[in-house]
Amino acid sequence: HIEVRDVSKTFGTHKAVADVSFSVGRGKLIGLLGPSGGGKSTLLRMLAGLESPDSGDVFINGKRVNDVPPQERGIGFVFQHYALFKHMNVFDNIAFGLTIRKTDKKEIAARVDELLDLTGLRGFERRYPHQLSGGQRQRVAFARALAPRPELLLLDEPFAAIDAKVRKELRTWLKQLIATLGITSIFVTHDQDEAVEVADEMLIVQQGRLEQQGTPLSVYTAPETAFVAGFIGQST
Ligand code: ATP
Ligand code: MG
Repeated sequence: HIEVRDVSKTFGTHKAVADVSFSVGRGKLIGLLGPSGGGKSTLLRMLAGLESPDSGDVFINGKRVNDVPPQERGIGFVFQHYALFKHMNVFDNIAFGLTIRKTDKKEIAARVDELLDLTGLRGFERRYPHQLSGGQRQRVAFARALAPRPELLLLDEPFAAIDAKVRKELRTWLKQLIATLGITSIFVTHDQDEAVEVADEMLIVQQGRLEQQGTPLSVYTAPETAFVAGFIGQST
């Protein structure tokens, strides 16, 4: 369960996130949508505890995220530019979060094995990132994020750099993956079709403000603000 209360963040004189509050139930896949510069990535970084809000709080399962040590937060991320470790093969990339937690070697091997199946990467474990396609690299990034069994997976345009066809396959795969694992996920995207297809609920932000939270159907059929009415259905 995620609870965001009156969170704000200002850079210089620019309010990137302004008094945002919402909550998300366990197991939901949430699409975070809005125009460029609207504050999506900043909001996501605060959810992850990578950035502290100037005011307000983020609670994950009742605990303030910034009060919990990073490795105990139970949060995994996949970012568009959160590159893989170039000098590590697929196995070591996936194992990274377990290695730094000093997990037992046998346990690491077993977990990586599971993740290779889950992400369809079996046979690729000895390859290096430069020997993979963009879609395969992002699946490695997912496997790496999932290895420590996070309860919350934060995704910042994970497929933005991937061509349309593979992107479509990946989003279907992602929806199934999240459902199989039963974890909560927040997914930033520019792409409305992507949000509608995968999201249980949408969060629409603009100029740092949360304009609407609701199911894709409710957002389309009952926009709550003039901004949402104009934004939704517009091609991007
Ligand atoms: P995009 O869709 O283009 O990724 P976004 O919705 O993720 O945009 P953010 O990256 O959260 O938007 O940025 C929100 C605003 O805050 C922008 O005006 C941006 O320039 C500003 N901003 C973000 N990070 C910083 C920073 N570290 N220093 C200064 N300004 C920042
Ligand atoms: Mg962004």
